[in-house]
Amino acid sequence: MLIAVMKAIQIHSTGGPEVLEVVDLPIPEPGAGQVLIRIEATGVNFIEVYFRKGVYKAALPITLGSEAAGTVEELGPGVNGFAAGDAVVSTAVIGSYAEYALVPTAQLVKVPKGVSLEQAAAVILQGMTAHYLALSTFPLKAGDVALVHAGAGGVGLLLTQIAKRIGARVITTVSTKAKAELSREAGASDVILYTEQDFEAEVKRLTSGKGVDVVYDSVGKTTFDQSLNCLHPRGMMVLFGASSGPVPPFDPILLNSKGSLFLTRPTLWHYIATRAELEWRAGDVLGWVAKGELKLRTEHTYPLANAAQAQIDLEERKTTGKILLVP
Ligand code: NDP
Repeated sequence: MLIAVMKAIQIHSTGGPEVLEVVDLPIPEPGAGQVLIRIEATGVNFIEVYFRKGVYKAALPITLGSEAAGTVEELGPGVNGFAAGDAVVSTAVIGSYAEYALVPTAQLVKVPKGVSLEQAAAVILQGMTAHYLALSTFPLKAGDVALVHAGAGGVGLLLTQIAKRIGARVITTVSTKAKAELSREAGASDVILYTEQDFEAEVKRLTSGKGVDVVYDSVGKTTFDQSLNCLHPRGMMVLFGASSGPVPPFDPILLNSKGSLFLTRPTLWHYIATRAELEWRAGDVLGWVAKGELKLRTEHTYPLANAAQAQIDLEERKTTGKILLVP
């Protein structure tokens, strides 16, 4: 029997971008509760860099990637509610840096009319992340003031737009003037060039010394300490990433001395753990894209074989908005 093969990007050891290899693999067979999808676009996210470097552990070899949109090719046993040819998207794809991949249907949603597969792949992970941060972790209200680091990044641009539609005031940080322009377009009222300015002093100036209600910090190591100083008493520090490196251990008494602050370190999986939450968040973000209410930037799109370059550009802060790989 002839076994159908596909191209995929795997790592056999952890390290720099050079450990990403283009390999031929058999197209996998869907098991119970799974479907096989043909991938049209796959999202590149920082988490794959953490796996590649070995910061997050995985059994090797592994095909990287978890976010993709495509069409259902084959159903596994016991699958209901999906049919061959359906346009679908998920953040739980088992190895999305590939031409085909398996997805558990518990984490699969249909792409509504008016949203392309490329848009779906571009928005699902970062959009649902921005959604839970703004609506659940620290539910923003009109008039709240939020500080969003890396405001021109994938999550940053979406979080700014969602916070703005709620009526919050959004202050962002970015590294360049070009990124500042994009962040303003997304709705930031004030943009701080944290590579040139002291962002803590700027936030205090912009809030007349009061501080902000919430900091959404995905940068981590280089911003964490000063971010705590930007909060008013009983404000919330939402540390949701480590783009500059992990935050070193710290003494919780600091939360007391800096104003009885709250600290959380959330992850998307705990906010889409039930089908109801997944459908709520996916439905909102895909619906907003369909209506043109959530704008996406997808100018960083690479062929699948160039996955290493995509990760280099992400790590070197060269990208804005979403990075996609197209098989
Ligand atoms: P971004 O597009 O935001 O890219 C990262 C950005 O971080 C860069 O563009 C850069 O913006 C900024 N940055 C600051 N310092 C550094 C540095 N030393 N090295 C690299 N980048 C730096 O990425 P994503 O939108 O994909 O993800 C943002 C963060 O959110 C990541 O840390 C990711 O792990 C996290 N995340 C967390 C989730 C969760 O549920 N907890 C889910 C999804 C993402 P600038 O040039 O303006 O400084």
